[in-house]
Amino acid sequence: MHHFQYRDGVLHAEDVPLDRIAAEVGTPFYCYAHATLTRHYRVLREAFAGLPVLICYAMKANSNQSVVRTFVTEGAGVDVVSGGELQRALAAGAAPDAIVFSGVAKSRTEIAAALDAGILTFNVESEPELERLSAIATARGTVAPVSIRINPDVDARTHRKITTGRAENKFGIPYQKAREVYARAASLPGVQVTGVAMHIGSQITDLDPYDAAYARLAEVVRTLRADGHAITHVDAGGGLGVPYRLDDPPPPGPNAYAAVVRRHLGDLDVTILIEPGRVLVGNAGILVTEVEYVKTGADKTFIIVDAAMNDLIRPTLYDAHHDLLPVRAADGSPEAITADVVGGVCETGDYLARDRALPRFEAGDLLAVMTAGAYGAVQSSTYNTRPLAAEVMVRGDQWAVVRPRQSTDDLIAMDRLAPWLAPS
Ligand SMILES: *Cc1c(COP(=O)(O)O)cnc(C)c1O
Repeated sequence: MHHFQYRDGVLHAEDVPLDRIAAEVGTPFYCYAHATLTRHYRVLREAFAGLPVLICYAMKANSNQSVVRTFVTEGAGVDVVSGGELQRALAAGAAPDAIVFSGVAKSRTEIAAALDAGILTFNVESEPELERLSAIATARGTVAPVSIRINPDVDARTHRKITTGRAENKFGIPYQKAREVYARAASLPGVQVTGVAMHIGSQITDLDPYDAAYARLAEVVRTLRADGHAITHVDAGGGLGVPYRLDDPPPPGPNAYAAVVRRHLGDLDVTILIEPGRVLVGNAGILVTEVEYVKTGADKTFIIVDAAMNDLIRPTLYDAHHDLLPVRAADGSPEAITADVVGGVCETGDYLARDRALPRFEAGDLLAVMTAGAYGAVQSSTYNTRPLAAEVMVRGDQWAVVRPRQSTDDLIAMDRLAPWLAPS
């Protein structure tokens, strides 16, 4: 569920009409509902009641300071995948000892920063990373807490660009090599292996892959313990999917997912970390855009809006579907048309929807792109010198700009003229 509903014919975020925000901040803008963020977090926490679970918000889904801060205030840890995210998590007030650091390409600088911060654990993804971590920690006279990410070779049955637990994917070490790599880790100075991690993909809407992966995870933990390793936590990763089509039956929710976790990991006597991203923020955010033109092509109608693939790349990157709603219900006469909704970027891949049955919109109408809170703003770019969109958070009848719209001057100011090109 979420908190974007019509009242008196106008789509609201909680108690605030979206056309009022549009009038003040302009379009396009992302809008997040604080009530949805906290509700999702609490529902997930409740689903794991009675289990020793630490929820580490996977902030790559949405790393706005206000979003991260909302979860941190609720008691969440954070899953980071870069030194930049580590810095953002700390800036948002995350407790260092509730931060896990995932990712296959950790640089020396990133590792050193995480050691200095005193994070909960490094989710190590390869043997060379383990060696590097050992060397850096030893040189700094410290010991790095380590979990090794196991690749279970399970197909998450999601889009091919977001499945991560197949043998052919770059993530983790093959589960068949777990004993060997843990033995190597135990022999290295400067690292202490305390956990086992796994993350099989994103937008997972079928629990069977989790079932298979977590059975394998539990088996690995038992084997490693028999080998003498002290495993005190497992990291079950994230990936739970959200409903993108409001008319479709919802995918399995937190309770069904938690039951799978409980079944396989509940009696291992370990702390269980989970790293949800999308499920916490996906439908807590929308992108609001204004129709610039309606163009009737030879074969198609194009609704041309002021948001584009640089603002929301999911449709073209993942073939993702986002429901589109008129902000004022009276906008778009009910007489349905089939249209492509496109932006102004000079790419044929620039679309928010294709061949979509829609009301008949006109220039000036506002459209809400639903379920855009996850992997939306964070993947935006300034391609075509389009400044990053504003981001707004609503809480009850209050709202605040949580990232001002970038200005073109800001963008140009990031460049420098090479000295030989400077005007004399
Ligand atoms: C992306 C990612 C997540 C979060 O995935 P969601 O599908 O957003 O829940 C969790 N853990 C790791 C290691 C990730 O890379």
